[in-house]
Amino acid sequence: MYRTHTCGQLRLTDVNATVTLAGWVQTVRKFGSITFVDLRDRYGITQLLFSENLNAALEANPLGREFVLQVTGTVNERSSKNANIPTGEIEIVVTEFKILNKSAVPPFSIQDDTDGGDELRMKYRYLDLRRNIVKKNLELRYAVGRSTRNYLHENNFMDIETPFLIKSTPEGARDFVVPSRMNAGQFYALPQSPQTFKQLLMVSGYDRYYQIVKCFRDEDLRADRQPEFTQIDCEMCFVEQEDILQMFEGLVKRIFKDVKSIDYTDTVQRITWEEAMWQYGNDKPDIRFDIKICNIKFPQHTFPSKQSQSALIDGANFGVFDDAETVVAIAIPNCSEYTRKQTDELTEWVKRPQIGMKGLVFIKCNADGTFKSSVDKFYSEEKLKAIAEAANAKAGDLILILAGTEERTRKATSDLRMYMADKLGLRKKDEFKLLWVLDFPLFEFALEDQDGGGAGRWVARHHPFTSPKPSDVETMINNSPKVENLDKYLEHPYANIKANAYDMVLNGNEIGGGSIRIFQKELQQKMFAALGMNEEEQQHKFGFLLGAFEYGAPPHGGLAFGFDRLCAILGGSETIRDFIAFPKNNSGRDVMIDAPSTIDTKQFEELQIKLDLK
Ligand code: ASP
Repeated sequence: MYRTHTCGQLRLTDVNATVTLAGWVQTVRKFGSITFVDLRDRYGITQLLFSENLNAALEANPLGREFVLQVTGTVNERSSKNANIPTGEIEIVVTEFKILNKSAVPPFSIQDDTDGGDELRMKYRYLDLRRNIVKKNLELRYAVGRSTRNYLHENNFMDIETPFLIKSTPEGARDFVVPSRMNAGQFYALPQSPQTFKQLLMVSGYDRYYQIVKCFRDEDLRADRQPEFTQIDCEMCFVEQEDILQMFEGLVKRIFKDVKSIDYTDTVQRITWEEAMWQYGNDKPDIRFDIKICNIKFPQHTFPSKQSQSALIDGANFGVFDDAETVVAIAIPNCSEYTRKQTDELTEWVKRPQIGMKGLVFIKCNADGTFKSSVDKFYSEEKLKAIAEAANAKAGDLILILAGTEERTRKATSDLRMYMADKLGLRKKDEFKLLWVLDFPLFEFALEDQDGGGAGRWVARHHPFTSPKPSDVETMINNSPKVENLDKYLEHPYANIKANAYDMVLNGNEIGGGSIRIFQKELQQKMFAALGMNEEEQQHKFGFLLGAFEYGAPPHGGLAFGFDRLCAILGGSETIRDFIAFPKNNSGRDVMIDAPSTIDTKQFEELQIKLDLK
């Protein structure tokens, strides 16, 4: 037997017991004739005491960091206790020890505040995983997965595996492809998600499906993406949107409870996509803080049901506002006393290329009820007061105003809103706020070619299987998707078709999304056609699905959560990489196994592929 106990197990109640432990040497500290060793395993750390009688043996077999060590000894009460660890009141007085394996000196220290840089830790990920902080993340991931499985099992969901070697599933990214040796010249695609398979399972009558499953997307890796990532993928049949929302807010609440001991009793708020864009400039707003946008001026077609407030700024001959498509303001609480240096810093911030604004206008709402702004030359105190009222600003607030083209200005305002909230500490790590965003547009218009499918065409905002709102089906059927004037695509009826789609947002992150699906063959064909697929292409790509829809497809819908992201947020981290055992780096490389890499000539021959790199 290698061990009788783990390194996290022994307590004062075990004093005098004879035990055997096995683990890794964390530290060796020699004090005169005695030596202390911290022995570590997955469960904790136990202090070992080697007395003088073992000195000769230790000298003959010196211990080093990360050696694998087995010891037998007696549990002893420590004279100087360590309250920071659960085993801190005891130590093992070693009677026998055996080095099970030596270790080279690790390239970085195996402790929370390690000296290892990112790249080094990734190269030696198996050592990095020994660190407590990384282990905690994986434990949390496991807990989220377990909670998910329990909840879904209790609700009659069945875990069904779907294949990885498939044909393209469009989720808006490039496919990873795998050549087939047995079918030379042909390729599988790795699934971007199990989307079509889960829909087929609904056709087969498995009315509640789930899978915690790998998805593969060949995207340029933005800050926090991984080419392979994990989804909690779910589908149900005979459901409407409301059923799905209830079921899956239930899941997230259960995860909160099981993993964080949080009783999320609040009703999960809901907002339409349009309202989210209107109030926050963003379709995944962080609602932990209550700063909303005041839309002073905007192109009417972007928010057909909203009233312009441009009278607030008109007639002042202020070119920046007069020439702008969009002018929006946000009131930042309690910042009216910002100094020149601070407002300059904000101006520089919005001018950074990532934000792309030309400048920033501010109005200070002084505590005494007066106003001071960077546009005093153009606007009277009275006008400033009117803007402040429209922006819902209180005395003591600082109003920040951005002006420019609609899309960029709205995005910049949203970024500024988050930036200020971070500055003011309004985005608290231990506060969790869920939000459903509903009624997304069904289509987006690709003015530029995004995926090789050509420019100037409609693309599915979610994916091509998402159904339009029932009230928009007619619009879709009765109108040709053709856009005559590219500049006026927003006036095309398709621009206003809303989808039966929903996203779940947690603290400003989209953690999940899905839709009620199209289940009628004709409507699905219409959808494919709207996306520019002719009949032949439809058959080639999705003949199987269209075929299945001929055999009694039930109404169905579902969603998928980004499992890695959910874990990262619950773990209070920004990076999903910290929650994946063996992640890739920002260039999509696994630096530990050194992949991707070249393959043998023989493999090319078997695949009948000749490499001709450009
Ligand atoms: N397959 C979708 C995705 O990966 C989720 C869904 O619609 O269920 O985003």
